[in-house]
Amino acid sequence: MSDRTNDEIGRIPLIVANWKMNLTASEAVAFAERFVPQLQAHALGTRFEVAIAPAYPALGPLRKALEGSKIQLAAQNFHPAEAGAFTGEVSLAMLEDLGCDFALIGHSERRQLFGEGDDVIAAKAQRLEGSPVCPILCVGETLDQRESGATLEVVDAQLAAVLDVTGAGLARRLVIAYEPVWAIGTGRTATPDLVQTVHAAIRKTLVARLGAVGQATRILYGGSVKPSNASALLSQRDVDGALVGGASLDPDSFAKLALACLETA
Ligand code: PEP
Repeated sequence: MSDRTNDEIGRIPLIVANWKMNLTASEAVAFAERFVPQLQAHALGTRFEVAIAPAYPALGPLRKALEGSKIQLAAQNFHPAEAGAFTGEVSLAMLEDLGCDFALIGHSERRQLFGEGDDVIAAKAQRLEGSPVCPILCVGETLDQRESGATLEVVDAQLAAVLDVTGAGLARRLVIAYEPVWAIGTGRTATPDLVQTVHAAIRKTLVARLGAVGQATRILYGGSVKPSNASALLSQRDVDGALVGGASLDPDSFAKLALACLETA
């Protein structure tokens, strides 16, 4: 786990794999054995960063398999309570104990399939205050919201719900991921121009709320990112990395994608 803040890291590209409910612990270890050597000769940690968010059972084995590689570990979720009678849930302390560097909060699948509202997401952000685990806050509009012209309003409200409860320490470690819901897992990628427009609006809000801290916040894009479109998206001024679902499940394709992002660094 690193305790560096965003201004110390600089806005070097951060590429995060979100495996969702895919890959067993043994498959995760086999992935690492094939993936790590492909990135080893490159400037991981100085020119770009890579993190992987496996399913919970693979967190420990993957941590071990990534040892010495500078590839970071991310969790897909956690429960906002400290501990207690929450059958089937995982706490932040458990993620800290496993050495997680990041945790996703507010992913659209959590919002849509598990009914997580902004209040739950804000509670998770509050739990992260003072933790070495950095939040990756996912925001994004549905197709209906985009078509009705509500994109910026929706994204701003999702950001505000978390920024309203974010203290100075957490703000300096926050990562945002803009993920239009209509582009997730659909093969339908937003154009680089469209992505830059929303990222610029997010940057404006971050700077208005957080000042210089908002200038140093990384804003990732997610939604059908693949090796062929990664560098065009990442060459946009306010795109500081990618959150990748489908294209992160194959070690060769994810390595290709991460290296394409490095070209824009
Ligand atoms: C995601 O789930 O965060 C995601 C971006 O998925 P995909 O790359 O498959 O669209």
